[in-house]
Order: sequence, then C-alpha cells, then structure tokens
Amino acid sequence: MTTAPTNSTPPTPPLSFDALKLSLAVRRAVQDAGYTRPTDVQAAVFGPVAAGKDVVVQSKTGSGKTAAFALPLIDRIVDPARGVQVLVLCPTRELALQVSVEFARLGKLKGVVPCAIYGGASLEKQVDEIRAGAHVIVGTPGRVLDHLKRGTFDPSELKTVCLDEADEMLSMGFAEELNAILERLPRTRQTLLFSATMPEAIRRMANRHQKDPEAVLLSADQISPDSIDHFLYFVGSQDRVSSLARVLELESPDRAIVFCNTRDETQSVATALQQRGFSVDYLSGELEQSARERVLAAFRERKIQHLVATDVAARGIDVTDVSHVVNFGFPAEAETYVHRTGRTGRAGRRGIAVSLFGPADVGSVYMLRLTYGIRPIERALPSAAEERTRRELERLAALREESIGVLDAETAALARRIVAHDDGERMIGYLLKKFFYQATQDALELGARVADERPVVVVAPSSIPTQPAPPEAPEEAEVAAPKSAPSAEGGAGRRPRSRSAQDKPRRIDVHGGADPGLEPETIESDMGELRVAVGRRDGARGGDLARLIRDKAGIAPRDIGSIKIYDRFAIVPIRAESIDAVIAALEDATFNDQPLSPERGKLSEPSLVPPASSDEE
Ligand code: ADP
Ligand code: MG
Repeated sequence: MTTAPTNSTPPTPPLSFDALKLSLAVRRAVQDAGYTRPTDVQAAVFGPVAAGKDVVVQSKTGSGKTAAFALPLIDRIVDPARGVQVLVLCPTRELALQVSVEFARLGKLKGVVPCAIYGGASLEKQVDEIRAGAHVIVGTPGRVLDHLKRGTFDPSELKTVCLDEADEMLSMGFAEELNAILERLPRTRQTLLFSATMPEAIRRMANRHQKDPEAVLLSADQISPDSIDHFLYFVGSQDRVSSLARVLELESPDRAIVFCNTRDETQSVATALQQRGFSVDYLSGELEQSARERVLAAFRERKIQHLVATDVAARGIDVTDVSHVVNFGFPAEAETYVHRTGRTGRAGRRGIAVSLFGPADVGSVYMLRLTYGIRPIERALPSAAEERTRRELERLAALREESIGVLDAETAALARRIVAHDDGERMIGYLLKKFFYQATQDALELGARVADERPVVVVAPSSIPTQPAPPEAPEEAEVAAPKSAPSAEGGAGRRPRSRSAQDKPRRIDVHGGADPGLEPETIESDMGELRVAVGRRDGARGGDLARLIRDKAGIAPRDIGSIKIYDRFAIVPIRAESIDAVIAALEDATFNDQPLSPERGKLSEPSLVPPASSDEE
C-alpha cells in the first residue's frame, strides 16, 4: 500500500456545530460529549451524507471519522419509529463496540439505539437486541453475514450502509464477506466508505458498490511505503555509539539521517562519529537558525555525508535522496517510526531503514508490527573475529586496487626480495602499519577543510592506533602529533581507500571554525593533479587509465602517480610541468565511449588552500 495523494485541501472547519444545523436533541448530545467544534472531516462530510449521497472518505486516524458519519445519520437519516435503518461494518470487535458507544452517546436524546454484533458473543442475545428495536447495527463482517443468512437481521428497511476503516477490513481479508453483505442489501441504499488511506482496492470497491460517489479526500495516514527495507540490530549491553559506528560501516550508507530520541544525544552522537572518521554533523533545536541552515545546506550539497537529528529538528528537511534512515534511538511511537523512515525510499528509489534496539524497545517493535504491519528483519552485528576478517579483506582490496600500475622495476625487485626473506612477514607488517596508520591520521586530522570530493580514508574504528608510534619509527610520531602540519610523507599516492570512502565527502566542521594552521593534503611538490570524468561506473581501473594516458600523452610511467578511482571520476597525479600538455593530449580521448573531459584537479589549483575562514561566514 502506498499513501494516497491528498488532492483536496481541508476546508477551514466551522467554529461551532451550529453551522451544521443539528436538531436540538443531537446538538445537546454533541455538547454533552464535550465536542465544541466539528473536525475537518465532520464538517466536510455532514452535508452530503445528510442529503443521502454516497460518499467515499479518506481522513487520517483520530480525525473523528466516527462522528462524521454518526452525526448526519442520527440527525437526518434514522427515524426512531422504525426498525434497523443503518448498518456500520467495522474490522474488529473493539472498533464495533467503540462505534456503537458513539452512536449511543450522540443518539441518546433523539432515541436512536445501536446494537453491536460480533463474533465470539452469543448469537441469541444479539438477536434479542435487534428485535428489541435497534436502529443501527454495528458489526464485524463475519457475524453480520451470519445474521443476514439466518434471517435474524432483516435489511429490508435499511437506508444506509457504512464501511468504517475500510482499508483495514480489506487488508484483513474481509473483501469476500463485504461483497456478500452488500449484495444482500437493498439497491436503493446509501453507501459510505470511510478509510484512513485510499488504496486501489478501496477505489475499486467504491466503483463497484457506490452510485456516483462524492469523494472527500483529506490527509491520509502515513503508510510505510513498500520501497523501504527495514532492519534491526539488537544492542544489548554494548556501547550504543560504538554499535552505531559499526552498523554504519556495515551498511555503508550513501547518505543517512541518524535519528536520536533526545536533543542532547544529537551532539554527542555526531561528535563520537566524527572522532571515528565519519563525515557527519548534527541538527538540533538548540542550534541557532544560521547554524541550522549551514548544516542543512552542507548536507544537501553532500559536503557532509550523514546528518544526526531529532524528530523536531528534522521537520522541514527536504532532502529526498537519503539512502538510509538510522534509528539510533528506537522511537516509542510507531507513528514516529513511520514518519522518520518515510524520509527514504522516495521518488522511485529503494530506501533502507536501520534501527538499533535494546531490551526496552521490544514492545515498540511489536507495536510497529501491529499498527503498520512493518516487520523489520533482524541482523546481527558481526563478532570480533568476523569483523577482523572483513577488515582484512577490505584492506586487501584497497591495497590491491591502489597498487595497480604503480610498480617500477626497481621497487618490484625489492618487493620480491622482501617476500622471499626470512623476516619478510615482519617487514611487510611494518610497511602496512605505516601505510594504514598514515592514512588514518590524514583522515582524522586533515578533515574536510578542503571541502571537495576527495575521499576520506575510513579505517575501522578499532583499528585506529591509539598509542603513539613505536620508537623505531620517528616519522610516525611526528605525524601523530595532533594537528601538526602534515609531513611530506602524507603523499597523495600513499593513501588506501576503503569501500566506505568511495566518492564520499570529507569530514567537515560546520559548527567550529577552520583551523588556520592546517593545510590541505600535501602532495609531492612537483606533482599536480588531473581529473578525468570517467570512474568506476564506467568500468575504469587505475592500470587502464594510466596506460591510456601514457599512450595518448606520451609521458613516462614515473610521471603518473597512483590513480584514485571514484564512482564518476578519477584523480590522476601527474608531474606538474606536464599537466597542460596532458590535458591538451586527452582533449578528445574517451574511455569506454565516455569522454575523459580532462581538467586540472583541485590540488593543482593554487586557490585550493583556503583562507582561514573560507567555509565560515
Ligand atoms: P477516527 O475514526 O478518524 O480514527 P474517531 O472517530 O475514533 O477518529 O475519533 C477520535 C477521537 O476524537 C475520539 O476520542 C472522539 O471522541 C474524538 N472526537 C471526535 N469528534 C470530535 C470533536 N468534534 N471534538 C472533539 N473531539 C472529537
Ligand atoms: Mg475510526
């Protein structure tokens, strides 16, 4: 089911029930019920129902649909001197009882008597009640059909039938009973359909059983669209933020809104994620308007990847292409869950809703199923060993891809020697440690002061070394010093990329000021960057591109650095003095029919190093 469109704006409801011109008895009963003014649906529906027309109504749960049909029926349709004139069908016994109580309450002074009939109660007693002079039968489809078949409910004087919560009745599988009932009722009757949503099946039902129905379409219940997949991660005693970080790594969302239940959580969750290298920021009610707008703009423009927010702060976010909605805190209300997750899976795309839940949330998960039929699939966070394996494979893949096309003969010979050496494992380990440690530091410290499309290297949190570098590696100690200018070791070609870093923006600090002492990534001084408009989605690989560029531009292998392939483009380090010539040579070049459209990469532009306050107002 999908949410039906709301194609009529609700009328402004009248200030009082006087506008409906109720008879005195009904007017007084309304007053006794404590209703002071009609709701939208009550105001909109009264006229046509009182006039005996067929009406199909969509109006959300809690909007007062019961009185919307009960009032005109009691006031204008039912004659207390006659027998059963109104039949209301409800999906459950509880609802039948509720509707019956409402008829009794609003009809008491006029002398309109309802009778509830449903399965599980004595048939005889119900027969007695009908015979005793009920005017309105409110019942569940199965039992009503029983009475009709037995002849204990004579519908010959029936003026109106009302299908209340029609969408529920259909989704509970009552279609057959409903059709059988409707076929047994007088053809001259008035038929009303009330529903919180307007699925196709209801429209068909209206076509089939109603005469020239008037449609009253007010705002519908939000129904969770089929385009969303729902998942749960159980979080017991573990640290919730760490679990969130692991979930984000596992799910690797393109961009997510992370919902917190409280305002205080938003900031602490965002900060904790930032410290783990994620590109996030938060929105909360306490932020000033200008800060809010800045964060929102950064999110919209994909300068930050994920947004942490509360329900209130997230109102008004009009970002439609969010791949994931993540519930850090599981919402207590099922409706809130539907609201939150409705931010993904829009505009023909699929969306994913992921929730952390703990023992205290089991009831809410159950309610979600009961109320909206949403049954999230439970997934397990991987064990530490699985996590290690995954990380190893990820690094292996990153290294492999990163190393394509960079090996010269001299280095290759050395590599062979190391592999064959007795201490080979230790030496490779040492190199790897340097390599990944460097990448982590760069990702954490350099952040997104360069607010462009370069990747952040995200290494699994648990693998980020917290100890200062070992004594035999003095350069590491230097790099590890917080916010010291990056050493020349942080060369552009030495950075591995993990799967979660593809084309994703760097960490950006929208709240805080930029650090004037911090330079963007240092590149080898004589290397510049070339950007070409083909990437992974075009099937481009580092080696292929390097070969193409070498062939077209006739430059030496050592003049090309390690190419970074992104989804839609690639960054090629090129010896600075050759860049213009290479761009000219590649002007018309294509890769898999895709033009390379070469241009200077950002790191080649002197303007790249931003003035200290360029991303602040
Ligand atoms: P729906 O069927 O649309 O879910 P209900 O008919 O069950 O809504 O009404 C929801 C609640 O609103 C009920 O508790 C009802 O008593 C109350 N209600 C209905 N009409 C009014 C009104 N005009 N003013 C105040 N409360 C109302
Ligand atoms: Mg209702």
